[in-house]
Amino acid sequence: MDKTLDPVDAAGWAELRAVGHRMLDEMFAHLEGLREGPVWQAMPAGVREGLSGERVPMEPQGVEAAYGDFVRAVLPYSVGNRHARFFGWVQGNGTPVGMLADMLAAGMNAHTAGFNQASTLVEEQVLAWLAELMGMPVGTSGLLTGGGSVANLIGLVVGQQAKAGFDVRELGLRDGDAALRVYCSTETHNWMRKSMELIGMGRASLVAIPVDAEYRLRVDLLREAIAADRAAGLRPICVVGSVGTVNTGATDDMEALADLCAEEDLWFHVDGAFGAMAYLVDEFRPKLKGMERADSLAFDLHKWGYLPFEVGCVLVRDAALHTSAFATSASYLIAFERGPIAGGLPFADRGIELTRGFKALKVWMSFKTHGVKAIAGVIEQNLVQAQYLACLLEAHAELELMLPVAMNVVCFRFVGARSLASDGALNALNREIVMRVQERGIAVPSTTMLQGRMAIRVAIVNHRSRREDFDLLVESVVDIGREILGETPARG
Ligand SMILES: *Cc1c(COP(=O)(O)O)cnc(C)c1O
Repeated sequence: MDKTLDPVDAAGWAELRAVGHRMLDEMFAHLEGLREGPVWQAMPAGVREGLSGERVPMEPQGVEAAYGDFVRAVLPYSVGNRHARFFGWVQGNGTPVGMLADMLAAGMNAHTAGFNQASTLVEEQVLAWLAELMGMPVGTSGLLTGGGSVANLIGLVVGQQAKAGFDVRELGLRDGDAALRVYCSTETHNWMRKSMELIGMGRASLVAIPVDAEYRLRVDLLREAIAADRAAGLRPICVVGSVGTVNTGATDDMEALADLCAEEDLWFHVDGAFGAMAYLVDEFRPKLKGMERADSLAFDLHKWGYLPFEVGCVLVRDAALHTSAFATSASYLIAFERGPIAGGLPFADRGIELTRGFKALKVWMSFKTHGVKAIAGVIEQNLVQAQYLACLLEAHAELELMLPVAMNVVCFRFVGARSLASDGALNALNREIVMRVQERGIAVPSTTMLQGRMAIRVAIVNHRSRREDFDLLVESVVDIGREILGETPARG
């Protein structure tokens, strides 16, 4: 008999179908019961060893056994981001509908480089919807990516080629072209430095402009830096603005940056990895105004779009520039007028990857299932929750809200009843509080440093959180803070 990885007969299919149905049922039950369990739990040593030291499975174990190992050793030990009280870093929950769509996409296994097929139309449709929602014009180009890092990199590459003044693709960056300069703020996410290194411009070509007291790029200093660089014979090509910085959720002055880029003939790229999604909320949109003037805009759907990893998006206003930055030709990829390759490989021509999966399906199904209004409603709820948490913190004498809440990121610390403690002591105290809150499975906030002070950082991109979850977080931080102070009465 010929070999295959499919079941070989009706009985085999029936067996697989039964396991598959059980997987679905058990995953739904898991998601339904998430709230009852810990947010995070440490992995027992035995489990860790089992996952690390296994020999290559040359012989079949069967899907039952493989699934059993998943349920026992893998599923329970995630970072906890599915849970209602996960507020760490910026990690979305995923949705049940998104999960189903990913399953369908994997079943269909559509090679979405382009081609004459439905998945390509679905992605084009999703990109057009996203451009409309982000206020960008009809005809805007785009691409779904593995995340914000690659979406941002693609935007930067298009901008570099559009403004370099020579054919970067043909010539590469030669010694003389070390004169190119890109500007961002000191708060810009580290995709920026990584991308500058990757495209060979180097970090020396990146100018990080200081921020104001609210962590927004100082446009006056940017203006001065551009003028000084021009006077020194350098060539400014691109400004990167942030909508929602990862540290504090700050948004740069989009109108001012867009105006400056127009005046100076610079590429305006916006990193809105999570923050751009707040553009969907009517009441919040005015704060982001000007974002839609970006030449390229990068954002994630797997953060504040709530969808399962991975899916990010880059939108590029000038479709011709987008394609000219990446299109290639090869004899084995020639498009015909008819048949499956008619239309060519438009997505391969807009980015780095040739073979690409059908990420668009989860966006398409999520939008159709829930309606964008409902998704925007949950984003709005997160914005309200951030303000609610800020109110709780301000009302509590032992807690300090470290910064007004600009979006969905809240930074605070426990200061205790005595306000004498040094920053050094408070840093150690808050670090210990965060670890205990996490280890006890209560909640998962993360931390950041704000001017040398350790902040407990709560980033709310969670469609499962309720008000009571923030009440519990605040109570727990205070209880644990007091507990630690009680253990070391000499502290402070
Ligand atoms: C998360 C994030 C990124 C990177 O996006 P990934 O999806 O993790 O690749 C870039 N910028 C900001 C502001 C982010 O929060």
